Amino acid sequence: MFDLIIKNANLPDGRRGIDIGIAGGKITAIEKNLAAEAGEIIDATNRLVSPPFVDPHFHMDATLSLGLPRMNVSGTLLEGIALWGELRPTLTTEALVERALAYCDLAVAQGLLHIRTHVDTSDPKLVTVEAMLELKEKIAPYIDLQLVAFPQDGYYRAEDGVKSLERALDMGVDVVGGIPHFERTMADGAKSVEALCRIAAERGLPVDMHCDETDDPMSRHIETLAAETVRHGLQGRVAGSHLTSMHSMDNYYVSKLIPLMAEAEINAIPNPLINIMLQGRHDTFPKRRGMTRVRELLAAGINVAFGHDCVMDPWYSMGSGDMLEVAHMAVHVAQMSGVDDKRAIFDCITANSAKALGLEGYGLAVGNPANLVILQAEDVVEALRLKPTRLAVLREGRVIAKTAPKLTTLSLPGRPAEIDSGINPTGRPAF
Ligand SMILES: [Zn+2]
Repeated sequence: MFDLIIKNANLPDGRRGIDIGIAGGKITAIEKNLAAEAGEIIDATNRLVSPPFVDPHFHMDATLSLGLPRMNVSGTLLEGIALWGELRPTLTTEALVERALAYCDLAVAQGLLHIRTHVDTSDPKLVTVEAMLELKEKIAPYIDLQLVAFPQDGYYRAEDGVKSLERALDMGVDVVGGIPHFERTMADGAKSVEALCRIAAERGLPVDMHCDETDDPMSRHIETLAAETVRHGLQGRVAGSHLTSMHSMDNYYVSKLIPLMAEAEINAIPNPLINIMLQGRHDTFPKRRGMTRVRELLAAGINVAFGHDCVMDPWYSMGSGDMLEVAHMAVHVAQMSGVDDKRAIFDCITANSAKALGLEGYGLAVGNPANLVILQAEDVVEALRLKPTRLAVLREGRVIAKTAPKLTTLSLPGRPAEIDSGINPTGRPAF
């Protein structure tokens, strides 16, 4: 006896027409033709049923602040940082929580149920930290939120940067952040990586740094981050976010760097939307893409996970909380268009992201919490192509968001009366 059976599900691994039995909020069966009673049955009608999307890199304290106190006129990263500096003194806990809650509603609607957010610790008042801790508790029934102590203005460069980060960790922030390329000198950047890894090791916390978010090929803090990870025994628990300078680095140097990253089990977290938007701004033509080396990192066995980074904030005026939009951009900018490439890209916003965050009980497997998403698409490749409607989002076996399928009525002589955009028009599997 099940509380709920989802019938005729296509799974991300390619199995089709599978039934998923759910009892007590957990997945208790995954098999064909499940013959049992259930309180409720949902027919997935051979649509994709995926584990929830996971965003490993976001800025929840800045989201939906677009236009406050003014717009980013140039649209550049540096004007974005300056603009955030203008907004920061006016922030209140209430306004931060309210904006973040509104974003989380959108996230849930898109099947995004796990988020790691960087929280700016530059202002010693730490209103941002207070607000995000409150938010974390409020959304715990439907979104798992991890907080990273993020010294936006520099760990050493900002006045009281060192103290404020420590205080944020004392308040209960989960992860140690950093921004070595934004310190005053390369040497200060390296020193900050060493200090922050030591703090993480002492406190038993993971590390996730904004690392080398620049087009400068000599920005090599990822090398120090990998070395310090090994020195402190933090293998597998450290993430390098962005890593855009790797795009511009000398190829010989990268041939040494990638094995170092693999040895340290670094999680690489590019942010395709933001990287393609903000990098290469000082180039004329040809213009660099500013996306790290996704294919090469994956080939070396490095865990690659994609972040959304920003939605309607000082750095990025677009975005919708849809991790498939992030992955769609990644397919293009990383030129991952092969059949196996696309399946690997889907993992970068699901299983790989879950691994980067150290999530337990994630994925469609018996015994795990029944967290899943039913999409209006047949398989993962079609999901990447269509960014389809999330028909239902379940958290611990309960439907927490529902959207009607996108169906278009046609009035064309001799043509079908209706189009279901989720049905592959070729009639053949997309992989
Ligand atoms: Zn970021």
